[in-house]
Amino acid sequence: MAVRVRFAPSPTGALHIGSVRTILYNYFLAQKEGGSFILRIEDTDQKRWVAGAEAYILESLRWLGIVPDEGPQEGGAFGPYKQSERIGIYQKYIQPLLDRGHAYYAFDTPAEIEAMRERLKAAKVANPQYNATSREWMRNGLTMPIEQVKEWIAAGKPYVIRLKMPHKTLIRFRDGIRGWVKVDTTALDDKVLMKSDGLPTYHFASVIDDHLMQISHVIRGEEWLPSTPIHIWLYRCLGWGDIMPQFIHLPLLLAPDGQGKLSKRHADQYGFPAFPIAWNSPDLTVEKAFREAGYLPEALLNFLALLGWNPGTHQEIFTKKGLIEAFSLERLGKSGVKFDMAKAKWFNQQHIKKQGPTAWANYFITEAVQENVVCSQQDVIAICNLVKDRITFPKDFWQEGRFFFFDPVDYNAELIQKKWNHQTKEGIMAFHKGLASLVEWNRNKIKQLLEATPISGMMPLLRMALTGKMAGPDLIEIIVLLGTKKTHTRIAIFLEQMG
Ligand code: GLU
Repeated sequence: MAVRVRFAPSPTGALHIGSVRTILYNYFLAQKEGGSFILRIEDTDQKRWVAGAEAYILESLRWLGIVPDEGPQEGGAFGPYKQSERIGIYQKYIQPLLDRGHAYYAFDTPAEIEAMRERLKAAKVANPQYNATSREWMRNGLTMPIEQVKEWIAAGKPYVIRLKMPHKTLIRFRDGIRGWVKVDTTALDDKVLMKSDGLPTYHFASVIDDHLMQISHVIRGEEWLPSTPIHIWLYRCLGWGDIMPQFIHLPLLLAPDGQGKLSKRHADQYGFPAFPIAWNSPDLTVEKAFREAGYLPEALLNFLALLGWNPGTHQEIFTKKGLIEAFSLERLGKSGVKFDMAKAKWFNQQHIKKQGPTAWANYFITEAVQENVVCSQQDVIAICNLVKDRITFPKDFWQEGRFFFFDPVDYNAELIQKKWNHQTKEGIMAFHKGLASLVEWNRNKIKQLLEATPISGMMPLLRMALTGKMAGPDLIEIIVLLGTKKTHTRIAIFLEQMG
């Protein structure tokens, strides 16, 4: 059977980072097996629909470099790929379920359902829900005469169509990660399949679509595991019990402290982005996002791929292509994985390093021109090479190298108080003087001069004088790159300010 997988987001808001990981595993499997990765927009819940959310999802995929084989934009033989354009299809499949007694009309008002729940709660019933027991005393096609059901429908009374779950039945299915899962239907309710607005619910539409789109593997987050027995039952009722997809439920991404699943609240609490890209739509406010923070798509892919999957080796840095080649379902993990932002940054550093000097120089120049700084490609590359170990995000190249173009405006008072004394003053003055008589300006000569200077305690001050900072890359390299004039002037300004 051909591998056909799907990512089926509901356009109800921005894409959570956990969903991106779900996309990846689906996409990797399809690519690896020469199968198809399908994007299906599950937009039948009009109450939760958010303007701009679909565009956000498409843009996130585009930024991540993931192109669906079939989808709303790509088209394909199993379309349309937006559930709101498939309403006629779902309507066709509901009638046989009603005819065979697997589904029934229900006319209960929200108030009546609430009253039923309250009664059950008062009686200390464990699952106060619309189920095989409680449906017996509600207003539905199972308790009402058929003529009355027809009359009420004809009279335009609002109704939903519910799935008739079997009483006290064990539903078993094999999950690709957990193995056999057994659920007693006593814990399950009679899910609504068709809402009063004539639109299908997620459960109904996704089962129909997974079947019609010939999905071979349903890879999704663990939060959908409790819904799977309902889906399995639906497959059986529809007569598709023998050709179900394989189910794979991915363990949760956990908060950095390991306490509970990763939520937007944690993102706010720990100050990291929760979404892949930012979006400025009035309906969809995403404040902190990975793209805008300066993450490279490859780095984010690499980081996420390893949160719940391992290659079976110690290799950590992968390209997208490498991840596809190495991917296998067997190496998906069973337990929740902590979302470690320090690790995300580390991956970004590694991927930026891998890009090399031309990319670094571009990052540098992009920022430099904003401050009207013009510089030669050769200097920029030298600066980038010098600061590359201190970079987490592309904009850091300029932040780390900016001091080459602007004389320091102030010095760290605490450092000066600690280090500035007669001896260090003498040292800096001696070095300053020595520089003036240097005939050649290179690493060796500057090093020799420093060695000949009484430098005890003076180096942090010298760095402060030249860069305005307490820490940074190798000072001799900095002096070489700054050149005679700037070095000389900056030390002179420093000595003057220190009196
Ligand atoms: N529309 C569901 C969601 O928003 C899809 C769940 C599934 O993959 O079955 O996540």
